[in-house]
Amino acid sequence: MAKPISHVVNRHGLKSGAPDVAIPVAEDLVTVPGSPTRERDVSFYSREYPLETQNIEKAADREWGWTIYTPEVTEYRRGHDVANKPLIDAAAISGDIPPTVEPEAGLDVTEMIRTRAEEVGFGEVGFTKYDRHYTFESKKKWARFSSAICLALEQDFDQTQSIPSLEAEFAHFGTYEVAGALALDLSEYVRSLGYHAQVHSPNDNSGIYIPLFVAAGLGQLGANGQLLSPHFGSRARLLVITTDALVTHDEPIDYGINKFCDTCQVCVDRCPARALVKDRVWWRGAHKNKLIYDRCRPVMVTYDGCGICMKVCPVQKFGMQSVMEHYVETGEVLGKGTDDLEGYELSGKGYFASGELPHMGNKIFDFPHGTKDDWLFHQFKEKLASNGGPTTEDAVEFAEQVAALVAEGESTRSDE
Ligand code: SF4
Ligand code: SF4
Repeated sequence: MAKPISHVVNRHGLKSGAPDVAIPVAEDLVTVPGSPTRERDVSFYSREYPLETQNIEKAADREWGWTIYTPEVTEYRRGHDVANKPLIDAAAISGDIPPTVEPEAGLDVTEMIRTRAEEVGFGEVGFTKYDRHYTFESKKKWARFSSAICLALEQDFDQTQSIPSLEAEFAHFGTYEVAGALALDLSEYVRSLGYHAQVHSPNDNSGIYIPLFVAAGLGQLGANGQLLSPHFGSRARLLVITTDALVTHDEPIDYGINKFCDTCQVCVDRCPARALVKDRVWWRGAHKNKLIYDRCRPVMVTYDGCGICMKVCPVQKFGMQSVMEHYVETGEVLGKGTDDLEGYELSGKGYFASGELPHMGNKIFDFPHGTKDDWLFHQFKEKLASNGGPTTEDAVEFAEQVAALVAEGESTRSDE
């Protein structure tokens, strides 16, 4: 029997000229617009335990990853870094560039920016307050302006369905490259309206972007830890531009995802690392399914970026309208239990149909943790163990490496 509907969320069509979508939200899926949040906790953690980029806080496993990647992945990732460098450099100084004209007094430019962003290819565009609670400690002095333009670029559908694969990594990193370039173009447009625009590069994140997207009504947080956006679910690559432009902020929306994920659980059940957890916890003021980083990371590194939790999500595969219509009609999760949605191949381990999971063993989860300092110390300890004790050469090499880190300004303290 069909379920009663609480409300219908209407969104524009994905591409220009495409029909609008109407997403029915069943009564038993209703929670709150956006995410359940305790603002006092968000504020406390932001102040006392500020967020930091994984490039710093998790630098040890970033370095270690390069020793694990296949030659093909290494080659591709090196090329990606080269392609990204000028985009990151341009974004870093974008907030200092002055507007090219005086703004028209009193003119709200929200829809002008939204239209332009959609024209250049962003599939989801929203506006919200730039909430600095989610800014990384190392970027707090850099980040400017009070409004955030939230921009999601869709990752290729077919390549995504091949997850985990090098092909899917082309889509993943390639989309970030395109998004970084499009954002720089859009920032020029904002300046041509008379305002500043600071590009927060998708390749050098300034903070956690998902809460901003949820606040802007562009989706809700899935149990896979990703934004589930209306058209392409978690197949979205995110960035923000902050601005002092006169804009109107969007409102968060209840798409029914908070409850739907409790029923679905496909990503939780299919994660080869058992890194996703069934039950929600309060974490830094958010009520969420908290991913276990130390289980996810080594599997990502070893198996072409993994991403199975993205691939098996029905909202990614079928779109939110189809998923929610099916739920209203049947009370069931579209595609759940089918190999089409849930099956995946893991290099060297074989194919795993719905209901089957690979055995990962313990060894894969033994990897370096923490900052670059921690990684250096880890390597030094291993050398001591293999040499049967300290040698002068080891000690001198270690001291030189530490000195180089200090000179780079990258020596950091781990708060974990
Ligand atoms: S990326 Fe892979 S290992 Fe990590 S949470 Fe997703 S499915 Fe699990
Ligand atoms: S797979 Fe299911 S539980 Fe996981 S994020 Fe998608 S909708 Fe939510």
